Order: sequence, then C-alpha cells, then structure tokens
Amino acid sequence: MKTAIVTGGATGIGRAVSSLFAEKGYNVVIGYNKSIDAAKELETKLIKQGFSAVIYNCDVTKTSDTYGIVDFAVQKFGKVDTFVCNAGIAQQKLITDITDEDWSNMINTNLTGCFNCCRAAAKSMISRHSGSIVNISSMWGISGASCEVHYSASKSGVIGLTKALAKELAPSNIRVNCVAPGVIKTDMLSSFSAEDLERLRVETPLSRLGTPEDIAKAVLFLSSDDASFITGQVLSVDGGFIL
Ligand code: NAP
Repeated sequence: MKTAIVTGGATGIGRAVSSLFAEKGYNVVIGYNKSIDAAKELETKLIKQGFSAVIYNCDVTKTSDTYGIVDFAVQKFGKVDTFVCNAGIAQQKLITDITDEDWSNMINTNLTGCFNCCRAAAKSMISRHSGSIVNISSMWGISGASCEVHYSASKSGVIGLTKALAKELAPSNIRVNCVAPGVIKTDMLSSFSAEDLERLRVETPLSRLGTPEDIAKAVLFLSSDDASFITGQVLSVDGGFIL
C-alpha cells in the first residue's frame, strides 16, 4: 500500500487531494496548520468510508514540523511514496501597499514552506531510491498577476525549485513535478466579489471555474506510475487560461 502526505490537506484543493488518494487506496497523512476541526472531520469521514487516513499538525514554515510529518508517516506506514506540497496563502495588494511582513509571510509559507517539505521528503525518499513529489504552484507563477506580486513571485519560485530538484533527484529515481492551477473554487477566493469571479470565468476558455477535484486528478496522475517518465514538468490545470 502506498503512502501520501498532503500539506494543507484538510481544506480546499488539499482536501480533494487527500480524499482522492484515500479513495485510490493510499494511506494518507493529512497535514493541517490551523484547520484542526476540518482535519478531524475529514479523518473521521475517510476512516468511516473504510479508507486509511490520519492527521498531523504541520506548519510548513517550521523545519521541525516538516521533518516531523515525514517521520510520523514512516513510523506509521513504513515509507512515504508521495509528498504533495499544497499548503499556501494568497493576498491581493498593490506593490506599494505590500509590507515587509506581507512579503515575508508569503515567501515563508509558499516558497520556504515548499522547500522545507521537499527537503524532508527527499531525505526519506533518497534512501529508498523511490518517490514522487508534487508541488502546487499557480498559473500566476507562470504569467504573473497584477496586485499579486508577492504571490506570483512565490509561485514562480516553486516552479524553479521543482525543475532544479527534478534534475537533482532523478538519479535517485525520485520524480518532482508541479501543478499550476487556474481559478479554483475554494476559500482562497473568498475575497473575490461575484463580479470578479464571473469575469475570471468568462476569461477562462473552458468557460467555468475549476474545482478542487480537477486539481486532485492531476496530482494523482503525476504521483502515479502512469507518469513514471515525467519529471520537472509544470502541468497547467486552468481551463486554458494560460496559453
Ligand atoms: P485554501 O482552502 O485556503 O487552502 C490553503 C491551505 O494551506 C489550508 O489547508 C491551510 O491549512 C494551508 N496552509 C496555509 N498556511 C500554512 C502553513 N504555514 N502551514 C501549513 N499549512 C498551511 O486554498 P486552496 O485554494 O485549496 O489552496 C491550496 C493551494 O493551491 C495553495 O498553494 C494555493 O496557492 C494553490 N492555488 C490555489 C488556486 C485557487 O484558485 N484556489 C489557484 C492556484 C493555486 P490550515 O487551514 O490548516 O491552516
């Protein structure tokens, strides 16, 4: 039985990823930071459905938490096959309004957090000469978003990290890929007005907003043996927004 770790795995995209991996027979370690109630609720739901799921408190900005979640998974299930670096935050501000603290929070969570997780995952996977890492970037990490300079920079960084790490870990038979979601209906969009969301829907060639499940399916594919010759790639799942 394979084991997957999903950071930010209790809500939104991470919740869909955790659920799909559990349904597909993985042991799932659901990382959460603040959403303990959602994490417990998801764990209970998945276990009741007969799946293997367990929660773990992991703030990705803390090195010790990221080593901790890997050690926990190895102790509980013997190994880590897939690490999904999904945890992230977003914020919309003009560059002139972005404070030092805003910038640090964004980079620490989205980029340093991804680095911390990849480092912890790699340490465990290298010794087994096997594993797959999937990082969650964003289409704005490819194209840049107005009023999201810090978010876009952090997500571009995730793409650079993914490509470099894919080269470094390929000789160890570890694949590292990235999913770049478009506009996906989660709490992350709660600051957007209905008009903003409608405008984004219209701008999306496939004429709808994405769902967390759309992203989960891409993450599962990249993690699976069906993608065994794919590494260092950025898979856009955005309804054709960035072409
Ligand atoms: P969400 O529901 O707000 O999920 C964000 C998740 O990140 C939460 O589960 C949260 O955990 C976790 N998180 C935040 N800071 C953390 C920290 N320091 N340590 C550990 N976990 C932390 O939004 P979402 O849309 O599902 O976002 C998931 C990922 O997709 C993010 O990386 C985001 O940038 C990316 N993305 C989303 C969209 C979109 O349109 N929704 C588009 C492109 C990319 P807690 O709740 O437990 O604190």
